[in-house]
Amino acid sequence: MFAIWGHDKAAEITYYGLHAMQHRGQDGAGLVVNDGTNLHLHKGEGFVNDVFKDFDFQKFKGFAAIGNIRNKTKHDKVFDNVQPHLFHSLDGSMSIVHTGRIVNSGTIRRNLEESGSILHSTSDTEILAHLMRRNGKKSVEDSLIEALKMLIGAYAFIVMTTEKMYIALDPRGIRPLSIGRLGDAYVVSSETCAFNIIGATFEREVLPGELITISDAGLESRRFLLREPRHLCAMEYVYFSRPDSDLNHVNVHSARKRMGIELGKEHPVPDADVVTGIPDSSISAAIGYAEQCGLPYEMGIIKNRYIGRTFIKPSQELREQGVKMKLSPVKGVVNGKKVVLIDDSIVRGTTIKRIVKLLREAGTKEIHVRISSPPILNPCYYGIDMSTKEELIAANHTLDEMVKLIGADSLAFLSFEGMEKAIVRDKTINQGICAACMTGNYPVLENERKKAFYRKY
Ligand code: 5GP
Ligand code: SF4
Ligand code: MG
Repeated sequence: MFAIWGHDKAAEITYYGLHAMQHRGQDGAGLVVNDGTNLHLHKGEGFVNDVFKDFDFQKFKGFAAIGNIRNKTKHDKVFDNVQPHLFHSLDGSMSIVHTGRIVNSGTIRRNLEESGSILHSTSDTEILAHLMRRNGKKSVEDSLIEALKMLIGAYAFIVMTTEKMYIALDPRGIRPLSIGRLGDAYVVSSETCAFNIIGATFEREVLPGELITISDAGLESRRFLLREPRHLCAMEYVYFSRPDSDLNHVNVHSARKRMGIELGKEHPVPDADVVTGIPDSSISAAIGYAEQCGLPYEMGIIKNRYIGRTFIKPSQELREQGVKMKLSPVKGVVNGKKVVLIDDSIVRGTTIKRIVKLLREAGTKEIHVRISSPPILNPCYYGIDMSTKEELIAANHTLDEMVKLIGADSLAFLSFEGMEKAIVRDKTINQGICAACMTGNYPVLENERKKAFYRKY
């Protein structure tokens, strides 16, 4: 999510902000620009550049905008769920962007439909709008607070009317959200990398359970729910965010590098020749691991950065070719060597299996896989689409079975304690993390915790 208030190039800046966060989703993008009288929407499927290819920024003038990037989930009706959502009523227009997941959305949806609401998307955003309409409060702010109190889960919302912008984060702060300044304008972003690109300065994190109102009168903060201990998604540090973003005062690259250092302490590989990482997300950890173990870090695998999406949907025979188009081994680095291969995470195990195969074909003598996060054993209920338990390789196999399945010589994961140490730098400033998909310790719902499990390797 990205938003800006108080800048005459609101739509352009929002485009740049979204573009900086393209890694968070490639299935759709959109923005709503506010000219003080009307809200104008533009959205579409695909990459940010595809969606805004023919967009006339001169025509969409306004002083405020909100935007979003869509990462499609399994049961998505794509276009309807591309955000922002724009709603018109007798009181005026309102647009909403949202990230995360409402875990009680099924119940709310049923209640809304039984009392006559017609919902046209499967997105949680629409639920918020309906709840706001129904609770009969006078001001937008009061009806928003009333609606937010009914939601359980991980969420960040930005709501914009022609007069104000409202920013809300769930009481555990599971998803990241920051506020910055660009001259006199306020900017809001899921990741601070967007601030760097537009030349904005970071101001502060949105706090768990906080509702911020931005208008021409400035910024106002209220707490709509009692703040709970922070549970920022650990996967943001492991894989999801860009290395140049800071989340809750911790730089992502540095956290990944420290995860690599901890991994090196926990699982060294005696007599290894070289350390290499799978581009891009595991390079930081590979550097840390190499530093810790006193081994050279080398570029053993390179990524074709021009690949984007191929036009051809690969047939089974050509799928292998597709992998080689994206990632190729550097034979001169790995041939005849005992290699430590670092990846940031294993979900289904498909990536690591392919890379091990590529490295074998390039003549690698031994491949010791080291993963800079704990095994993923449980599904995520908070907005990260990470398959069902049946598909999670670590949830269904022992370590020995996994070694065989991926074709490596050995495999080891970073412990939860190691990961936590790498991420949480200062407990006094509420830097707690969610790691439920790894530990089974869900911060939100009791019955989810019972279904989950934790296994230490
Ligand atoms: P797998 O191939 O095991 O299913 O997924 C893990 C690999 O895919 C890692 O290399 C990771 O960098 C990448 N990856 C892509 N999307 C995701 C995601 O949503 N979560 C995680 N943890 N890794 C992902
Ligand atoms: Fe992130 Fe995992 Fe928690 Fe989901 S369960 S919010 S992916 S740490
Ligand atoms: Mg990867």
